[in-house]
Amino acid sequence: MVAIKAPRGVRDILPDESWKWAYVLEVASEVADLFGYREVHLPIFEDTALFARGIGDTTDVVEKEMYTFTDRSGRSLTLRPEATASMVRCYLEHGMQREKQPAKLWCSGPMFRYERPQKGRYRQFWQLDFEAIGVQDPMVDVEIVALSLELFRRLGLSNLEVMVNSVGCPRCRPTYREELKAYLAPHLDELCDSCRARFDRNPLRILDCKEEGCIEITQGAPDVVEHLCEECRSHFDQFLNGLEAIGASYRLNKRLVRGLDYYTKTAFEVTSGKLGAQNAVCGGGRYDHLAEAIGGSFTPGVGFAAGIERVILSMEEEGASFGERPSIDAFVVTAEASARPKAVSFLHELRRNGLRCDMDYAGKGMRSQLKAASSSGARFACILGSEELSRGAVAVKDLSSGKQQEFPLEKAAERIKAVLKEQAGG
Ligand code: ATP
Ligand code: MG
Repeated sequence: MVAIKAPRGVRDILPDESWKWAYVLEVASEVADLFGYREVHLPIFEDTALFARGIGDTTDVVEKEMYTFTDRSGRSLTLRPEATASMVRCYLEHGMQREKQPAKLWCSGPMFRYERPQKGRYRQFWQLDFEAIGVQDPMVDVEIVALSLELFRRLGLSNLEVMVNSVGCPRCRPTYREELKAYLAPHLDELCDSCRARFDRNPLRILDCKEEGCIEITQGAPDVVEHLCEECRSHFDQFLNGLEAIGASYRLNKRLVRGLDYYTKTAFEVTSGKLGAQNAVCGGGRYDHLAEAIGGSFTPGVGFAAGIERVILSMEEEGASFGERPSIDAFVVTAEASARPKAVSFLHELRRNGLRCDMDYAGKGMRSQLKAASSSGARFACILGSEELSRGAVAVKDLSSGKQQEFPLEKAAERIKAVLKEQAGG
């Protein structure tokens, strides 16, 4: 029988990497606190209709990328491809409009999209998602961008740049859409297949196409920000002023679009490093009509999502720090097998005292245990020899200096902690 492997595009995050994830999540949680965003845990599957309506059935995500299945009761469910629609559903379902506005929420977790797997693109990937729901004030858009920048700054990403656009609103966008279509119409056969299909259903998305030919054609396309209504123009200006106020360097990018009616006004992306556009670490924007699209009343909102895999890739490329790699403080070694019960109780005592420690369970001889102690990264080897034990003592070897000391068994935890503390302080 062939051994079963993980499905295509799905990865195990092994211990060599998972500590980096823990670091990113820890920093995200600190930054959330700093900005007053509270964490929610959202379900991994939802009613298919939530995404079909909340992301839009003319988007690539809904048209081609969803993992949709029927459960045993015949309901159509979908593994979440993103978190915004779920977050807005959660807000509406729990009557958060009655609380302080905006409701500032964040979550993290796996998302699922049926895409062609490649570096930085998987079928199960993680996102950090921050949303501020309930107000239209452009200063909230500024806060969302500020939050993303502070997050990436703390993660050690450099050369952060914000790319911004405004996609208008259902009032001003129709005129723009018609102008864009009029511009594109003569080039229709030169567009890629997907863009030809988008022409009627979601023409703004053509601006976002990554195909060379389409990029060239759209170079001279009319600019959406030149077609904004007064309200959207003023919102955009205040947003840009706010970015300047926080010292964020931004670039206007007319290719940043979503094109559906409930995505309104602000669209942004943050890039990091010298690669610019190729290195988007997050994407976000305003979605003032999303709540209505999923059956709620008018509820504006703005937010962003960052892909954790891509954030980690960028951090690795930039040589950013992931904090301290978890290691152990002490490794308990027995000279003779008969000391193993003593080793177990000693180990337990050390752990109860907050020392991170381990021992050999593979029945190795003392020399191999000492080797295991070094390769475990432990700072100390605690050697339980028969002679020391007869004195009620343990030999504690500092594996970095090679220096060995003897401590009374019952004082060992305290002494080891004192040495570690002294070191950390010095
Ligand atoms: P892309 O243009 O790369 O497909 P997107 O516009 O589909 O991105 P969003 O839906 O805005 O991306 O998701 C926000 C972030 O989630 C992206 O900036 C990226 O970091 C991450 N992301 C999206 N799709 C994937 C994927 N398949 N694998 C890993 N990360 C992803
Ligand atoms: Mg995509």
